[in-house]
Amino acid sequence: MSLVVQKYGGSSVADAASVLRVARRIASYRAAGHEVVVVVSAMGDTTDDLIDLAKQITPTPPGRELDMLLTAGERIAMALLAMAINDTGHEARSFTGSQAGVITDASHGKARIIDVTPGRIRGALDDGAVAIVAGFQGVSQTTKDVTTLGRGGSDTTAVALAAALNADVCEIYTDVDGVFTADPRLVTKASRIPLISHEEMLEMAAAGAKVLHLRSVEYARRYGVPLHVRSSFSDKPGTLIVEGGGRAFPISPTEMFVTPTEEEAMEQPIISGVAHDASQAKITVVGIPDVPGKAAATFQIVAEAGANIDMIVQNVSTEITGRTDISFTLPAADGAAVRQALEAAQQELGFQRLVYTDQIGKLSLVGAGMRSHPGVSARLFEALSEAGINIEMISTSEIRISVVTDLAALDRAVVAVHTAFGLDSADGEAIVYGGTGR
Ligand code: ASP
Ligand code: MG
Repeated sequence: MSLVVQKYGGSSVADAASVLRVARRIASYRAAGHEVVVVVSAMGDTTDDLIDLAKQITPTPPGRELDMLLTAGERIAMALLAMAINDTGHEARSFTGSQAGVITDASHGKARIIDVTPGRIRGALDDGAVAIVAGFQGVSQTTKDVTTLGRGGSDTTAVALAAALNADVCEIYTDVDGVFTADPRLVTKASRIPLISHEEMLEMAAAGAKVLHLRSVEYARRYGVPLHVRSSFSDKPGTLIVEGGGRAFPISPTEMFVTPTEEEAMEQPIISGVAHDASQAKITVVGIPDVPGKAAATFQIVAEAGANIDMIVQNVSTEITGRTDISFTLPAADGAAVRQALEAAQQELGFQRLVYTDQIGKLSLVGAGMRSHPGVSARLFEALSEAGINIEMISTSEIRISVVTDLAALDRAVVAVHTAFGLDSADGEAIVYGGTGR
């Protein structure tokens, strides 16, 4: 018997029939004797619909009230799912994030989990019940207000609970059959990745792969939680995300999880996948004096505006002008605030003007094998050049190479690079079962 945490995304519980289907899957785990904790997202596009509704009331809803509104979506899903499970003859009890002991900081809309005290969940399991927990929400330790963890945050609820309960595995059920070598919504020839390390998955998620919430992967890595990403619409094997690529993965404690085949466990591809991100913007600070302290002052202002920046490029200054240009990328959602902050400091920083565009796309190639294989960048740049795509910026980590292109060329770039690195699958396994992908 093992303890399994399962997370079902919005598209897996989009309507009553889907809720009943998911309830049958959960019941089969209980029937096999496992303890099951379920984290559920709001049904279908409920969260987007609630945001749209709030925007019809006011363009600037207070964070506290928006969080209160959005957490209702998960409460609907959890109660319906508990009813459906009870009908299968297994007891189920639903809990809000707060009841489940998900303690966060007080920043509405992007709260961080600071502690998990799952006493009531443990109690429900001890009574033989399935515990259903509303995803993506918690309660602030200081204000006692209800908070949300940010869009897609139910993954993080699931991993945090799995860590706190010392679960054997955290299964993430979604609308595709696992993690693919590229977004199956974009690359129809994407291949399923049977096994991937936490480290590589972290790079993929940070580079824009939307299959998992970034913080959930950070959490899983920090606490060593094995993740199993799979579809709630099929019984296919999915993707295992484990320490160091999976060799250390324990033999499946239940026949319900699929362990990788020997062949899959041995094979370590150089490249894991191609991630893309269309949500970034680029700011160029033109003609800033090339003297010590200017970069520090610039990025101090950017940081104070609350933006997480990614790539930074500084041109060589010309001797005559003594000035240089600094470009950097940031989430487009933070673009307005950062522009305003920099413009307000134009005098102090001494730059000539700002250039802003959100018409950029970022493509990232990720793979632990890059560490020991030369020529990966050359092959990437060649693939882009053959597709006639201009590279605007480049950045690298030990296991990732990212380039910025024109937004209009991004999709084409992803397809070209995917093919160039031999990642195209012949089996047509990249099925998208549901959801709008928004
Ligand atoms: N329902 C929330 C959202 O749509 C949280 C989640 O799905 O993980 O972002
Ligand atoms: Mg959702």
